[in-house]
Amino acid sequence: MQLSEKIKHAIRDVQDYPKPGIVFKDITPVLADPSLMHEIARQLKNDFQSQKIDAIAAVEARGFIFGSILAHELNCRFIPIRKAGKLPYKVRRREYDLEYGTACIEMHEDAIQPGWQVLVQDDLLATGGTASAAGELIESVGAKVAGFSFIINLSFLPGYKKLQERFGVNPQYLI
Ligand code: 5GP
Repeated sequence: MQLSEKIKHAIRDVQDYPKPGIVFKDITPVLADPSLMHEIARQLKNDFQSQKIDAIAAVEARGFIFGSILAHELNCRFIPIRKAGKLPYKVRRREYDLEYGTACIEMHEDAIQPGWQVLVQDDLLATGGTASAAGELIESVGAKVAGFSFIINLSFLPGYKKLQERFGVNPQYLI
């Protein structure tokens, strides 16, 4: 079976989570399968090893899991982007729109140096609001968004196009 088929097979659809009408893609069965995680690590390494990347910036919380694996595989820095109020030092913040209301993410102001090529990693791309806010944080310190990497792209939503148009890169995803 191809890797994409194995991932699709492992993901669990949870109806009406976190609210009625939403089908949540639960990736915890993927995390619980060591041979699948090993294959994902190998694939991510393969996808990005020829690119110049100075740091992986990953979004709390599931992005941390795949982001730290990728940073380890590429032997580059890992930068945590967190929900508001979680990082201890001075931060830069970005607010972004959710379906209902707004959310806010933060990054340590000294985490990224101007000129660095930074890859954004998260588990899933939906509307693109989270990844776009992460990209804007990276650009706000004079660094460049080298690309976006996701395990899942919900292709019926406009996230892919939004990131492509805003950052001029083609986001990559496994399924
Ligand atoms: P977006 O900002 O693109 O609309 O939503 C993506 C963010 O929400 C990601 O940080 C992702 O972890 C989370 N997310 C939204 N829907 C799902 C889902 O169905 N499954 C998982 N695993 N994460 C989701």
